[in-house]
Amino acid sequence: MPRSPLPSWLIELAQQLGPKGLLLPGVNATDADLLPFEQDWRGRYRGQALAVACPASVDEVQQVVRACVSHKVSIVPQGGNTGLVGGGIPDGSGQQVLIKLHRLNRVLAVDVANLSITVQAGCTLAQVQEAAHAHGLLFPLSLAAEGSCTIGGNLATNAGGTQVLRYGTARELCLGLEVVTASGELWSGLSALRKNNTGYDLRDLFIGSEGTLGIITAASLKLFPRPAAHTTALAACDSLQSCVDLLQWVRQQLDAQLTGFEVMAQAPLQLVMRHLPDIARIAQGLNAPDAGSATGHAVPPWTVLIETSHPRPLMTSEEDPVHALLAEAMSQGLIRQAIVSQNQAQHRAMWALREAIPMAEKAEGLMVKHDIGVTTSQTPAFVQQASLALQAAFPGHQLVCFGHLGDGNLHFNVGAPAGQSAQAFVAEHEGAVNAVVYDLVTQFGGTISAEHGIGQLKREELAQRQSPVALGLMRAIKQALDPQGLMNPGRVL
Ligand code: FAD
Repeated sequence: MPRSPLPSWLIELAQQLGPKGLLLPGVNATDADLLPFEQDWRGRYRGQALAVACPASVDEVQQVVRACVSHKVSIVPQGGNTGLVGGGIPDGSGQQVLIKLHRLNRVLAVDVANLSITVQAGCTLAQVQEAAHAHGLLFPLSLAAEGSCTIGGNLATNAGGTQVLRYGTARELCLGLEVVTASGELWSGLSALRKNNTGYDLRDLFIGSEGTLGIITAASLKLFPRPAAHTTALAACDSLQSCVDLLQWVRQQLDAQLTGFEVMAQAPLQLVMRHLPDIARIAQGLNAPDAGSATGHAVPPWTVLIETSHPRPLMTSEEDPVHALLAEAMSQGLIRQAIVSQNQAQHRAMWALREAIPMAEKAEGLMVKHDIGVTTSQTPAFVQQASLALQAAFPGHQLVCFGHLGDGNLHFNVGAPAGQSAQAFVAEHEGAVNAVVYDLVTQFGGTISAEHGIGQLKREELAQRQSPVALGLMRAIKQALDPQGLMNPGRVL
């Protein structure tokens, strides 16, 4: 689609911000330059921005917001653009200004005694983890997109990831925020206090608001002592109920030393084997030999990844509780087989296997994706009932189920039956698949978005499934903080 002519106020703003500060289509940016900002990671959403602002300071963020407000132009904040619900992609009008935060990427302070770090919002998650590591500390938020996603985006989506069962979500890791409001004012709430009961919690309003209430420009975050050793294991289970029983038992034995508990059904591991065979190799020790299968190994019905963390190095394998726990779990019939990491390389390889699943799914093609949550104890019943309902409605479909069992958060993705076009299946059946899955989630008292947020993808579902009282309160908050409706309109509400 041809782009709209540029208004003169944007040309003036470009002069103030300099050539790197504002990308103007046809002036200093081609369509190809803008594509990475205008399209999401999965290639599902594509929009067109009036311009892309790349402010290098908080002052510049305020300048851009004020200019947009005075010309009634709406704003789309964007961090690393790894979001999975289309929240950071401009619409197709060509009239929205996208504000990309990647130039706000400084670590501002590390306070070792307070166990806190203060960073600008455009720092990648990996950068924050490394800054903590350099001080012998841990910033525990961890997800497969950590090399690209930003801390601003993590807070705006209240990201979860693989360590939530021990350390909590992004919200629980945040102490303070700095935010440019929808009118261009600055709220400096960057305190690193652990306790602060002075009125309404503004920080918690902005966390998880997906750029619809203001722009996060910096954050103070909690740090933790860095574990000296990890043990990671892969265990094969016959059923999801066994995985839940194993989780309950391991938690009782290890309490806070249990830092990861991920589950993967057969299909996601088969996808990794098909598309990323080198990464899948680590799981081979678990898989029973099977001459009939393409890889020569049969994948167990469920594979669990267990991570434990220890404050001191483990000198001998007798000091490591995991071996004894897994032996006991096997004698109780909770697991069939297990392999335990012997070194850092194997620890990383086991996590790489789990984290490769989204990449393998992407290589496989489009799917109807769900990021649902029910209580951990209900996950087996939910998966069983949802699988039966989907099988009845869409015979032969591919079900790719994996996730963070410790939090009851499952990625429950439905793909086309073998031989059918993935694209056509999603185009034709997405609404009906969603209805089956989300109706059941509602019956179980669960959530339609445990960690990815609402964005554009689930806005209609939220409107239909959230209570009128909750929606009314959300709309009142939006009206109070963004009366002109210019902050990321059409997302969430
Ligand atoms: P973006 O995608 O750029 O934006 C996301 C939303 O936040 C948008 O609505 C945007 O407008 C808003 N936003 C961004 N920055 C700001 C800001 N500074 N101020 C205000 N609003 C802002 N998510 C999980 O929770 N857990 C996972 O395990 C997980 N795994 C993933 C694995 C892969 C391979 C991929 C591609 C994604 C995964 N995600 C996961 C989703 C994604 O990484 C998270 O949602 C992440 O928090 C988004 O950060 P971002 O910087 O990329 O934000």
